[in-house]
Amino acid sequence: MTDVSRNGHPATSNGRATDGAIGAQGKTVIMGAGPGGLCSAYVLSKAGYPAVVLEKAPFVGGLARTIRRQTEHGEFKFDIGGHRWFTKNDELNDLFREVIGEELLWVNRTSRIYFDGKYVDYPLKISNALKAMGTGTSALAMADYARTRASRKVSPKPVVSMEDAYIDQFGPTLYKMFFQRYSEKVWGLPCDQMSGDWVSQRSKGMSLVTAVKDAIVPSKGKVVSLIDEFMYPAGGFGRFSERMADAIGAKGNEIQLGTGVEKVLREGNRVTGLQVRRADGTVDVVEGDNFISSIPLTMLAKIVEPAAPAEVLAAADKLTFRNIITVNLMLKKRQVTTDTWLYVHDRNILFGRFHEPKNWSPEMVPGDEYTSLVVEYFCSFGDHIWSMSDEELVEQTTRHLIDDMGFITRDEVIGGFAIRAPRAYPSYVIGYEKPLEAIKAFVDTLENLQIIGRYGTFRYNNTDHSIETGLLAAKNLLGERHDLDQVNADKEYHEIKRVAAEPAVTAAR
Ligand SMILES: Cc1cc2nc3c(=O)[nH]c(=O)nc-3n(C[C@H](O)[C@H](O)[C@H](O)COP(=O)(O)OP(=O)(O)OC[C@H]3O[C@@H](n4cnc5c(N)ncnc54)[C@H](O)[C@@H]3O)c2cc1C
Repeated sequence: MTDVSRNGHPATSNGRATDGAIGAQGKTVIMGAGPGGLCSAYVLSKAGYPAVVLEKAPFVGGLARTIRRQTEHGEFKFDIGGHRWFTKNDELNDLFREVIGEELLWVNRTSRIYFDGKYVDYPLKISNALKAMGTGTSALAMADYARTRASRKVSPKPVVSMEDAYIDQFGPTLYKMFFQRYSEKVWGLPCDQMSGDWVSQRSKGMSLVTAVKDAIVPSKGKVVSLIDEFMYPAGGFGRFSERMADAIGAKGNEIQLGTGVEKVLREGNRVTGLQVRRADGTVDVVEGDNFISSIPLTMLAKIVEPAAPAEVLAAADKLTFRNIITVNLMLKKRQVTTDTWLYVHDRNILFGRFHEPKNWSPEMVPGDEYTSLVVEYFCSFGDHIWSMSDEELVEQTTRHLIDDMGFITRDEVIGGFAIRAPRAYPSYVIGYEKPLEAIKAFVDTLENLQIIGRYGTFRYNNTDHSIETGLLAAKNLLGERHDLDQVNADKEYHEIKRVAAEPAVTAAR
C-alpha cells in the first residue's frame, strides 16, 4: 500500500503527489455512485488510475437518476424532481458538456409560484411580484422593508434563523407571502427554528434593494441570469451519471452495484478497507489505498470500526435530513402548463412543487399526445406524508390536481407511482453546526479518506457542487491541493453571474 496523506496534512513519500497532497498510487475505493462519486472515478479513470465504486442500489445516479417506466403507451422517464444543470464554474460546464456529448439540450426556464390562486414568477421578479400583490400590499412591503433596514442599522441584529435571514433580505411582508409557507413545507419546521445559513448559501447578495436596483439599472457589471435557460440531457438528467459510468467502465474500472458499505475498517488513522454486503447477502471486504465517501455523513460516522469517540456518535444522532417522495403521473394530454417548475405555496395542497418532464425534453414521454408530472412531497420518517401508502399518494396528488388546481381531469390519468428518496435534504436546524463540526473533525483524522457530495458532506449541494467535490477529491489524489470545504461557499446568489463581457455560459453554448 502507498503511504498517502490527507489534503493539507504534511506530505508523505508518494511517487506522484506534490508536497502536502494525497497521492493516487494504489487503488481508490469510492462509496456511492451518485454524480459526486462517479465524478471522482471518472477523473481518476481518465488519468489512468485504478478506482472502484461501491453502490448500494442496483443503479447509478443516486438522487440525480432518471427512472424509466414502460407502459402499453410507450416509455415515460422521470427524474427524482427535475434536475437542471446550472453553474457559474466553466470547468464544470466543460465537464458536463464533455460527458453529455450529443445528448445535450438547452432548455428555456419559466417557473412560477402558485399562491392563493395567483401566479408569480419564480425566482421573484420584483415588478411582477409587486403587481400580483396589489398596490396596497406592495406599498406595505416596501415600507416595512425600509423600516426593517433602518432599525437594523440603528441596532444591528445577528441573523440566526431562516426567518431573520429572509426578513433581513426582503422585509416581513414579502417573507410572509413568498418565503415562509414554502420553506415550512420544505423543512417541516417553523422558519424561526431553521438556521439562516441555508438562505445565505442560496441567496447571498440578494435583497429587495438589489432586486429593485437590478430591475432599474443593472450595476456592478452585467448581471447574467442563470435562470432563463439551462443545460439538460435529452434522455433525462440520469444520463449524466450513466454516461460517466460508461466512461469509467471503458477505462477498465468497475462500478459494483448492489454493494452496500456496512463498515469502514481502520487501523489508527488510516482506512484499510470497507466491509460490504452484496445483493445476494454475501459479506466481504474491499481493500484500498485511498477512500472517498459520498454516503450520508451521519452513517459514515457510525460505521467506522474501531468506533468513533462517543461524542462523535452522539453528534451523528443530532443531524437530521428531510426526505422527498415524488409522485409520477402519466397523462394522456398534450401539456398541463408551460412551466419548468410550479411552486405551490398553499397549505391545503400537500405537495410543494411539480414539473412537467416534457417541457424539459420531448424524449421524456412516448409521444406528443402524452405528458407527465413529477410532483414533490417533502416529508420526514414517520410523518403523515411518509406514512401514506404509494396508492394513497397517487390518489391524493390526482385529487389536488383535479379539484384544487383544475389542471387535469381523471380520464387523462393513465397511471402513477411513487418514489421515496430518504435523506434528500440536509436540514440546517438551528444548532446543527457543532455536531457537524465534531463529525468532520473526526473524519479529518482519517488521513486517506475524503468526503464529497450532498449528504456525504451534509451540505445543501446541487449536482454541480457535488461533482465539484468529487472532481477536487480526485485532483487531490492526482497531486493537486484543494480544500473541499470551499465548495459552495459562494459570495453571490447562485442564479446570477456578474460579468464584464460576454457570459461564459452563453458563449460556450
Ligand atoms: C428534489 C430534488 C431536486 C434537485 N434538483 C436539482 C437541480 O435541479 N439541479 C442540481 O444541480 N441538483 C439538484 N438536486 C441535487 C442533486 O440531486 C444532488 O446534488 C446530487 O444528486 C448529489 O450527488 P451525490 O453523489 O453527492 O449524492 P447522491 O446522488 O445522493 O448519491 C449518493 C449515492 O450513495 C449511495 N449510498 C448510500 N449509502 C450507501 C452505502 N452504505 N453503500 C454504498 N452506497 C451507498 C446511494 O444509493 C446513492 O446512489 C436536487 C435534489 C433533489 C432531492
